[in-house]
Amino acid sequence: VLVVEKGTAVGGTYAYGTGLAWVPSSRNARDAGVADSTEAAATYVRTASGGRHDESHLAAFLERAPEAFAYLEERAEVPFELIPDYPDFAAARPGGTSGGRYLSSPILAMRERLPAAWRPLLANSAQYRDVPAAWKEIQAWGGFGSLGTWDWDLLGRRVRDEYRGFGSATAGYLLAAALDRGIPILVGTEVSGLLRDAGRVTGARLRDGAGERVVHARRGVLLATGGYDANTELKRRLGSEPDTVPLGAHTVDGSGITVACELGAAFGAMSGQMMSPVYRIPGEQDADGAAYRPFVREGALPGAIIVNRTGRRFCDEAFGAAVSTRMARYDGAGGYPNFPAFVVFDAAWKAKYPLGAVAPGVVPDWLPRADTLEELAERVGVDPAGLVAGVERFNAAAARGEDPDFGRGATEYDRNLGDPDIGPNPCLRPLEPPYYALELRLGTAGTNSGLMTTADAEVVDVRGRPMPGLYAAGNSAANLVGGLFYNSGMANAKGITFAYLAARHALAG
Ligand SMILES: Cc1cc2nc3c(=O)[nH]c(=O)nc-3n(C[C@H](O)[C@H](O)[C@H](O)COP(=O)(O)OP(=O)(O)OC[C@H]3O[C@@H](n4cnc5c(N)ncnc54)[C@H](O)[C@@H]3O)c2cc1C
Repeated sequence: VLVVEKGTAVGGTYAYGTGLAWVPSSRNARDAGVADSTEAAATYVRTASGGRHDESHLAAFLERAPEAFAYLEERAEVPFELIPDYPDFAAARPGGTSGGRYLSSPILAMRERLPAAWRPLLANSAQYRDVPAAWKEIQAWGGFGSLGTWDWDLLGRRVRDEYRGFGSATAGYLLAAALDRGIPILVGTEVSGLLRDAGRVTGARLRDGAGERVVHARRGVLLATGGYDANTELKRRLGSEPDTVPLGAHTVDGSGITVACELGAAFGAMSGQMMSPVYRIPGEQDADGAAYRPFVREGALPGAIIVNRTGRRFCDEAFGAAVSTRMARYDGAGGYPNFPAFVVFDAAWKAKYPLGAVAPGVVPDWLPRADTLEELAERVGVDPAGLVAGVERFNAAAARGEDPDFGRGATEYDRNLGDPDIGPNPCLRPLEPPYYALELRLGTAGTNSGLMTTADAEVVDVRGRPMPGLYAAGNSAANLVGGLFYNSGMANAKGITFAYLAARHALAG
């Protein structure tokens, strides 16, 4: 086995992400006595896919994901834990559950598991580098909504002691497994083309600082090169969203998909992107330039609302997928009515919750602040009268714990992310002066279009025939499992599952 990585770090966008993997009926869930079935999970996806999923991919995913994750735990020492009480996006939908489908890794002690030379090469995100925590412990600490009271001293010590959490932890365990087995990993090396002999893909062309060379593959080539998150031109051609910034590895640029298309592989345009609202802390930079931070779960915390330029709310702020989908909506006449958007929060919100690396109670100079909504609106370019009217309407209902407009806090998913100290609705309370505002844009967490594959992850050509020796998994492949639907954790789970199926197929072939 040879691993080829275009970037200077390993782990890809998986290592930048939250690290949730949506695995219905996992071994971990069965061990914990969770009652679930692949039929129930299939019903859940089918009713949400917009009819665009493929039954054979959905079946392969649901039947084999538990096996793939158990294999990694047993054979590669990549640990996963069941996250207690973490509901599906739409738990009340047929087949949905209130918990028991999400796995994630415990924190990774890099000093124990990785050689010193590899530690700086494991990717990490601006969002999570200050929070080396595991989801299981986060739930025990009262969930995301209690983040103001988490043990930040402990987290600080873990940062100093080189611990990783979230997706970076899983990627690090996988890296350790590869290194333990002596698998070579070529960093800073791009797959720039594929070799084909008598109709079979037999290797790849590699390009690095020293030039180009070829490698031959006896069993096959697996493209796990992600989608086209950092390729603005492709994103414009394949979706109607406004321009978005990549939230993960900037080397996820569609180049892996292109080498397959060069040989006649079929491309499926499924639907646009997995997106997050994002904001920018001035001066923060990652290795690739500007660093944007997602504003996703923060939307569930009471004392904040999201509005458009008219000053009006347009969605349930606690449900990140609703925020990003509505922000990305094109109005058919040249405009994006909800883009950019603005989060408006009050002093009590800032006092209690962190904003990225800005600790609770700290109010940085760059954060627009005002004693009145009119003044705040003028400062950030929002309609003052609209904002005043919108907040009045919101506040009146929020005082009763209700959101008649968008149902914030009505679903289990919302409430799981809310603040348990606030009642009757953990996602709602009226806003009080002074106020703050932040502009929100959109970030790409992954893309849905990609190479068409069989349920064994073999890439197919434009006539639907498998291309022997060529496989695609993760976002390199079109999202045939969920169609238009994305439940958080599906990207990671289907990436691991179809990579596992590709390897099994290649070994059997
Ligand atoms: C902040 C954030 C939170 C997220 N949270 C979750 C979550 O909780 N659960 C979930 O399921 N998903 C989540 N996602 C989405 C998920 O992380 C990605 O969609 C997923 O990791 C994509 O995996 P992949 O294996 O397809 O590609 P990646 O993990 O992006 O890996 C692709 C790798 O291929 C390399 N590469 C690209 N082109 C080439 C080439 N030509 N040659 C060689 N190498 C190449 C890239 O450098 C990269 O390292 C999140 C994303 C972000 C940004």
